[in-house]
This record gives sequence, structure tokens and C-alpha cells, in this order.
Amino acid sequence: MDNIIQGISTFKGQIFPGQQQMYRRLVRDGQSPKALIIACADSRVSPEHITQAGPGELFVCRNAGNIVPPFTQQNGGVSSAIEYAVVALGVRDIVVCGHSDCGAMKGLMTPEALGKMPSVAAWLRHAAAAERIVCEAYPAGMDPKEHHRALALENVTVQLSNLRTHPSVAAALAKGELTLHGWFFEIESGELLAYDGEAARFVPFADEAGLPVAQASLTRRVAVPEYRAAPIAAE
Ligand SMILES: [Zn+2]
Repeated sequence: MDNIIQGISTFKGQIFPGQQQMYRRLVRDGQSPKALIIACADSRVSPEHITQAGPGELFVCRNAGNIVPPFTQQNGGVSSAIEYAVVALGVRDIVVCGHSDCGAMKGLMTPEALGKMPSVAAWLRHAAAAERIVCEAYPAGMDPKEHHRALALENVTVQLSNLRTHPSVAAALAKGELTLHGWFFEIESGELLAYDGEAARFVPFADEAGLPVAQASLTRRVAVPEYRAAPIAAE
């Protein structure tokens, strides 16, 4: 705890005075983050650090395994964060960010290790589809390291699917006002992989090529052409 107390002291005495104007502006104008990032609670995976974002720039929701429970009638912290980000803040991008060496993904592979963590075990059931995909659709006999990496990558796409079940997300996607991203942070190399939804694969982020997206921002109504003539706000 000593390091944390020292950090608070340094922030208050040395950092905040130089940033006071910015913080005052953020209070005066309110927050308007451009993106919601749903990342793992792992202490080594800090969305603000990876993206070099400052206060007010990212709306962040973190939990074990960067999981997005599908929409249900029950209240939940992740669901509330998503709804608030989309409806109240009007974010234009949502990122689901997984990572290498993820303890939650190890837990999915070895459920017997979760005997004393019933809440974690129950939570990870939201990622069960990723485990089934790797067990049934990948080559048999993968070594545990390969299995673990495949699971963490598949989990990002499973959580993106869960994300689309939320009414606020579905509506924003249909209006062409939202883009979905799947990222994977490799802790050991600092590399960021981005999910390319069209190619259905993760590719390394490259400055010059831009960032591939999981689902692009496109107005989409399956009942077109019947309603083509009807104007909607996004057009
Ligand atoms: Zn993790």
C-alpha cells in the first residue's frame, strides 16, 4: 500500500497542479469520451496506458476475462456501462480487448482449479462458447499454450457477439452510428492485434494501414427496400 499512498501524494502535489485547468474543463463541459473499452481486470492490461489516453478520453469497463454478458432482464455492471456509454455519452466505438497470459482464460481451460472460486466459475460461463469452439473446431492435441492463446482470441469474438445482443448496441449499429473493435494485447511484446471482421482474423496493428475493425459503421436495415423511402435520423 505504501507505493499507492506515495502515488496519491505525488499526483496531488506534483501532477494535478499542472493539469488543474484540464480537470476544471472536464467538469465544466462534462465528459465526452469517444470510445468504450471493455478490457480484462488484469493489472498488466491498462487501456489508458496502451492507448496513451488521458482523463476524459476513454470510458472503461474492466472485469475478469473482458466478458460481456448477453442482454438479459437482470441488471449488471457491464450492461449498464454499455447502455450509458452508447445512449448517454454517444460513443462511436466499442472495443473488446483481450490479452495474452490471461488468468481467466486459464480458468476456463482448467475448471477444476476454480473449486474455491464459485463466482469466477459462474462468470466465466459467459465465455463457454469460446472454449467449445477451441475444443471442437481446432486441431486436436494442441499444446496448452496454443490452446490458451486460441481461447483468448476466440473469446474476444464471442464477447463481440454478446455485445450485439444489447438493444442499445443493436440500434446504434443499425443506424450506422457505432463501430465494433476486437483487440488483443500481447503483454510480452507490447503488440496490439486487431480483429478484421471481414477476413475473420486478427492482424497486427500497423500505423500506416490503419486499424481493421470487427464491424464497420454501416446503416443496416434488413427490411429495405420496403422502407428505403422512409428517412431516418442517420441519413
Ligand atoms: Zn485477463
